[in-house]
Amino acid sequence: MDYLGRLGRTRHRLGAARLQALVVSHLPNVRYLCGFTGTAGVLICGPSESVFFTDGRYREQARKEVRGAQIKIRPAKSALASAAEWLGQNNSYARIGIEAAHLSVAERNLLAGVLGKRQRLIEAPPLVDELRMVKERAELPLLREACRVTSQLFRGLIKVIRAGVSEAEVAGEVEFAARQAGAEQMAFPTIIAAGPRSALPHGRASRASIPARGFVVCDFGVILAGYCSDMTRTVHVGKPSVAGRDLYEAVREAQQAALAAVKPGESVGEVDQSARKLLQRRNLAKFFTHSTGHGVGLEIHESPRIAAGQTDELRPGMVITVEPGVYMPGKWGVRIEDTVVVTDSGCEVLTTSPKELIAL
Ligand code: ZN
Ligand code: ZN
Repeated sequence: MDYLGRLGRTRHRLGAARLQALVVSHLPNVRYLCGFTGTAGVLICGPSESVFFTDGRYREQARKEVRGAQIKIRPAKSALASAAEWLGQNNSYARIGIEAAHLSVAERNLLAGVLGKRQRLIEAPPLVDELRMVKERAELPLLREACRVTSQLFRGLIKVIRAGVSEAEVAGEVEFAARQAGAEQMAFPTIIAAGPRSALPHGRASRASIPARGFVVCDFGVILAGYCSDMTRTVHVGKPSVAGRDLYEAVREAQQAALAAVKPGESVGEVDQSARKLLQRRNLAKFFTHSTGHGVGLEIHESPRIAAGQTDELRPGMVITVEPGVYMPGKWGVRIEDTVVVTDSGCEVLTTSPKELIAL
């Protein structure tokens, strides 16, 4: 990974935001900028130097992983406390950016408590999050592989779904298979939501048994070499009714329309709109109660948000999800989700599991 390039681009953006330094405390951003994968670390990105702070537990790991930054280890001090102390001793940094969305009030106070009179903490714009939106060439094979494994897992998943088995058992099977396939962990708690529970957009796998007939929403993803994948398929146990088929086809068409809208230059709000318009025609838009998608990368949910009113423009190299759904409380729900990469002319779907309605 091009850590020096990333640090350089961040530095460049500091100037534009009239900041002299940025305190990077959000761990995925720390990892993105200097390679550290541990759970305690802070990076200060300044105009001419970057300094990484961690505690004694990560001495070896920091030396092995961190690139482009000087490493400072204080055995008995938290990374943030060490970073704060260092900033207090470097008075030339007057306007210091913080990642406000990722810092607790206590952490902010810790930083503010040791700064000199001329130093100020400023809420920085999401500089690193914006950089992360467009994936580098070296990141794409990792995302592609995470998505390939996910599609592969789906084949095993449909073999274990049947009436009487609990949602948790199905999730357990898929998660065990994910580990065997090399996943570090799941990208988020696996969603297996059967029967009336399919109407819960975030129905985590429960102890409920899969009923004899109905939809099962399966939403899962893995983390492989640090990168996440995200896919939803909705299958049907037993023979689907005509109304069930119609509902499924409506969501599938909406997803197809949104996928067709994904291309460079298009605004993310428009992609959201294309899915919604199709459901509107069938009077189903009011049951589509979440946004159409989100960026995927080192985190399962990252920028941009594919939602109404959002104006980010799609660019080649962005990796996003497209996931319209329709949920009828107490009755049933259907969602279809792919992770896709924006190409020069449109998009490529990375989660390639079939989307025809599967009846089990
Ligand atoms: Zn998902
Ligand atoms: Zn998603």
